[in-house]
Amino acid sequence: MPDTRVIRTRAELRKALAGAPRPIGLVPTMGWLHVGHRTLMTRSRLENATTVASIFVNPRQFGEADDFQRYPRNEARDLEICAQEGIDLVWAPPVDEVYVPGFDTTVAVGSVSRPLEGAARPGHFDGVATVVAILLGLVGADRAYFGQKDAQQVMVIKRMARDLGLPTAVEACPTVREPDGLALSSRNVHLTPDERTAAAVLHRALLAARDRWLAGERSGDALRSAMRATVDGEPLARTDYVSVADADTLAELDHIDSPAVLSLAVRFGATRLIDNEPLG
Ligand code: AMP
Repeated sequence: MPDTRVIRTRAELRKALAGAPRPIGLVPTMGWLHVGHRTLMTRSRLENATTVASIFVNPRQFGEADDFQRYPRNEARDLEICAQEGIDLVWAPPVDEVYVPGFDTTVAVGSVSRPLEGAARPGHFDGVATVVAILLGLVGADRAYFGQKDAQQVMVIKRMARDLGLPTAVEACPTVREPDGLALSSRNVHLTPDERTAAAVLHRALLAARDRWLAGERSGDALRSAMRATVDGEPLARTDYVSVADADTLAELDHIDSPAVLSLAVRFGATRLIDNEPLG
C-alpha cells in the first residue's frame, strides 16, 4: 500500500505540493468516507499524477439548526480508506488553518445557489463556495472531483470556477447507490433500521417521476405530484421539497422541453436526505 501523508497546516500543504508531479487532482470531502467518495478518488487517481483528498467538516456550510455537531467523524478509519485508495496527500486541517485568524471573505454564487438546498439551508452554498475556493487556491489543483449526488453543489462550484477564472477543471462523478437505490451518504448512519428501509423511497420517487417522463408526460406539476405521492406513501418520510427544474438554471419548470433535473429532500426523524436524477 503506498504511503499517504497527512497534512494539517496551510504551510505544510504548500511545501508538500511544491514539486509534486502534475496534474494534481483534488477530492474534497467531509470524511466518514464511503464508496461514493472512493469512486471520486479512483477517478482522480486515473486522471492525475498526484491526488490530494481533503477531510474537513466545514462549519460554515451548516446552519444554526443544522447538524454540524452531529455530523459523523472517524478520522482513523478515513485515513485507512485514503491509504487503500492510494491517495498521495490527505489534508485534514483544524478549523483555524482553513479559516485563518481574521478570515473575512465570503464567496457567494448567484441565482443557481438560491433555490432548493439554498432556500432550505440559508447560507449553505456561501459556506460551500468559500471553502472550495480556499481548497482550490491552496492545492492549485488541475482537476477537482465532486459527486452528482449533490447536483446543485456541482452547479454552484462550476459557476464559481468559471466566473472567477479559476484554473481548476470541475469534474462531476455519477451517484453511487445501495442495492435498493438509496444514494450513499455519510448521513445514512443516523437512520434507524426502519428509517433506513424507508429511505429507499427517495430513489423510488425519482424513478416514478422519470417513468412518467419516459412515457411522455411533460408537465412539471404532474412529475412533482408523482414524487410527492410516492414519498407520502412512506409513513416514516416527510417531504421537504420536490422539484422539476431546468438543468442549467434550476428554475422550476411548468413544461419540460429542455434538459431538466428531478430533485427532492426528505426527512426521516432528525435526518434529512437529498437525491436527484437528470432528465434528458
Ligand atoms: P461529502 O463528504 O458528503 O461532502 O461528500 C464529498 C464529495 O463526495 C461530494 O462531492 C459529494 O457529492 C460526493 N458524494 C457523496 N455521496 C456520493 C455518492 N453516493 N455518490 C457519488 N458521490 C458522492
